Amino acid sequence: MKILDGHSHMLQTTAPVDKLKKKVSEIEDFDMNRLMARLDDLGVSHFQTMAQDMTRIRGSWLGSNELAADIQASAPERIISFAGAEPLDERGHVNTRQLKEIEMMVVEKGLNGLLLTPPYGHYYSNDKRVYPFYEKAVELDIPIYFHHSHMFGPPENCPLKYAQIWRLDDVVIDFPDLRFNAEHMGYPWTEELLAIMSRSPNVFTDIAMFIQPYKGLFNRKGRPLVLARNLAMARDYGVLDRVFYGSDYVGESIEEYINLVQRETAYIMEGLNNDMKALGYKPLTDEEMEGLLSENVKKLLKTIT
Ligand SMILES: [Zn+2]
Repeated sequence: MKILDGHSHMLQTTAPVDKLKKKVSEIEDFDMNRLMARLDDLGVSHFQTMAQDMTRIRGSWLGSNELAADIQASAPERIISFAGAEPLDERGHVNTRQLKEIEMMVVEKGLNGLLLTPPYGHYYSNDKRVYPFYEKAVELDIPIYFHHSHMFGPPENCPLKYAQIWRLDDVVIDFPDLRFNAEHMGYPWTEELLAIMSRSPNVFTDIAMFIQPYKGLFNRKGRPLVLARNLAMARDYGVLDRVFYGSDYVGESIEEYINLVQRETAYIMEGLNNDMKALGYKPLTDEEMEGLLSENVKKLLKTIT
């Protein structure tokens, strides 16, 4: 079965702003041909990767927009890169500099989407000050990924109040044409997110972080039972065809990346339906499985045929 990794930070690492890599050639011990060969071995047709602006809480970025563009340019038929941004500047005004940069990155460098992270940037997604970014995304016909959930990591200055999922309902009402992904099934507000998804065909979600154990935070080798329950709930809400797989890998190691995707997709293909049955849910059909692993995200990205 084909796999499309719809959410990752492959080849992106954290660095202070003045030390960020901007070219694939700056990544040590990395060979793009080898990565492509390993993706072929595993049946991964494409992966998405993106930079994240974390200057507000860490004074650093995860990757850079220039690097995201260069990664995609290295294998444009298989890699889909997004830019990251902080939509508000230090004074709390709309960040016009980044707004212009995003437009340039999309129009001139061919980037395919935008990552926004309200809890990291300390703003609400329905704050009208950030609306120019949504207007631009609609104008450019690119999707937005929102980190709009729990942070899955150690405690940081990322207040959960900025992740409250119902705030996205205003975004759906005000921007009916905006396509977006509320990452991580909006954990822990998954059912609220599914209700929002049932109101708009343009809202998607990924299952990143629901399988792998994250620094000992989750029990039972990650949280597959929660995943099984959430997928059954998504089916009940009629939105399972907008739920997709993402590894959320961060790093530069081909083998680490391949191992993670292999482990997670093996669970999806071989273990998930047993857990669904054990919980009394109907197992995923072949079509639902194919949608989760590769087809559903294509409707969001629109760039892969
Ligand atoms: Zn991520």
